[in-house]
Amino acid sequence: MGQCVSVVLDSEGMRQRIQQLEQQLEAGGGGGGGAATVAAGGVPAGAVAAVGHEVLFFPDSAMPCRNGQSCRRQQCGYAHNATSLVRLLQWIGSAKRSLDVCVFSITCDELSDALLAAHRRGVRVRIISDNDQMATRGSDIERLYAAGVPVRTDKVAAHMHHKFAVLDNRFLLNGSFNWTRAGVLENEENVLILDAPEVAVKYSQQFERLWQRYA
Ligand SMILES: [Zn+2]
Repeated sequence: MGQCVSVVLDSEGMRQRIQQLEQQLEAGGGGGGGAATVAAGGVPAGAVAAVGHEVLFFPDSAMPCRNGQSCRRQQCGYAHNATSLVRLLQWIGSAKRSLDVCVFSITCDELSDALLAAHRRGVRVRIISDNDQMATRGSDIERLYAAGVPVRTDKVAAHMHHKFAVLDNRFLLNGSFNWTRAGVLENEENVLILDAPEVAVKYSQQFERLWQRYA
């Protein structure tokens, strides 16, 4: 797996691969009800091992508890399991070299904190977002820019409406999900994480085109 994933698998190959991934996910505790470790600050401790493809659905029932599984608060209303947001934070936390984020709206503090943490540990983080969204209340784009993360926005009335990210030129994160609190807690959304460098490169190329256009 990994380097040799083909985009189109025959049905038998696909069945075997799904079975293999399900076993890995069960072992790794991914996706709703699993045992993910969340450190203080809501950012998962350590990098998650790459497990191939993954699908995340929102909304989550609650934001992750900042105390993680060591939470002792009675009737704590936050989530202590591996919610979709926790998994997404773990994917961001697993970036080693580069993280190109091209997302219409970024206002979720947990996600921007994870981007900032990646930037601070030496990952080359770049962000493209929508200029109109950047101007809205609660946008984290300004904060990321102020912290030294390279940010570019479109300069036109039409929307930069993508919601994708490319991680280490290998993993593609793509779907309907905006990186907002409403996206986490309210909306029906999806993110598909694909371990497919040959697909990710197409998105990287488009990222570069937009990066140049919005310079
Ligand atoms: Zn708690």
